[in-house]
Amino acid sequence: MTGAGVGQQAVVQKALQPLAAFATRDEPLAPHTTYKVGGPADVFAVPRNDDELCALAEAVRRTGLPTLVVGRGSNLLVADAGFRGIAISLAAMAEWIELHDTVVHAGGAVALPVLARRCVAAGLVGFEWAVGVPGSLGGAVRMNAGGHGSDIAASLTGVHLLDLRTARRVGAGR
Ligand SMILES: Cc1cc2nc3c(=O)[nH]c(=O)nc-3n(C[C@H](O)[C@H](O)[C@H](O)COP(=O)(O)OP(=O)(O)OC[C@H]3O[C@@H](n4cnc5c(N)ncnc54)[C@H](O)[C@@H]3O)c2cc1C
Repeated sequence: MTGAGVGQQAVVQKALQPLAAFATRDEPLAPHTTYKVGGPADVFAVPRNDDELCALAEAVRRTGLPTLVVGRGSNLLVADAGFRGIAISLAAMAEWIELHDTVVHAGGAVALPVLARRCVAAGLVGFEWAVGVPGSLGGAVRMNAGGHGSDIAASLTGVHLLDLRTARRVGAGR
C-alpha cells in the first residue's frame, strides 16, 4: 500500500468509528445502481434516523472525505475502482409520503413511480409524468428529472436538506 493509501485508510477508519451501527466498509456499489456496474465505496452509510444523519454529517465535516448520495442509482455510473469516500443511502429513513390536501410531503428516498401513483390515487393532477422515471425523489430534485412536458421544478414548492459539508440544515421554498 502507498503512503497516500495508508493515510486514506486512517481517515476512513476515523470516519467509520462513530458510524459503526449503520455503516459498512468496502460495500460494492454495483448492486445499488440500475446498470449493476462499479466498484466499492470506502464507507457505505445507511442512516436510519435524524440523529444518525447528523452523526454522519459530523463525520464528513471532521474527516473531509468526499460524499456520494446514492438514490435509486438510475443515473449513476460508478467506476470499477469504486468511490474513495462515504456513499450514503437514505433508503432506511426517507421513504415516507404524507398528503395534506393538495400539498404532498415526501422523503427523498421515495421512488417517483410510487409517489406519482399515490398522487393520482388521491385525485391530484400534475405529477403523472413521473410514473415512468425510475429514480428517487431526492435524485429527481438533484437532476431536475422530467418528462412529457413537465419536470420536478414545476411541482416542487420547497425542500428541507442537510448540508453534509457543514452539518447545517437548510430549508427553501416558494
Ligand atoms: C430506464 C431509465 C429511464 C429514465 N427516464 C428518465 C426520464 O424520463 N426523465 C428523466 O429526467 N430521467 C430519466 N432517467 C434518469 C434517472 O432516472 C433520473 O435522473 C433520476 O432523477 C435519478 O434519480 P436516482 O434516485 O436514481 O438518482 P441516482 O442515480 O442515485 O443519483 C443521481 C444524482 O443525484 C444525486 N442524489 C441522489 N439522491 C440524492 C439525495 N437524496 N440528495 C442529494 N443528491 C442526491 C446523486 O448523488 C447523483 O449525483 C431514466 C433512467 C433510466 C435508467
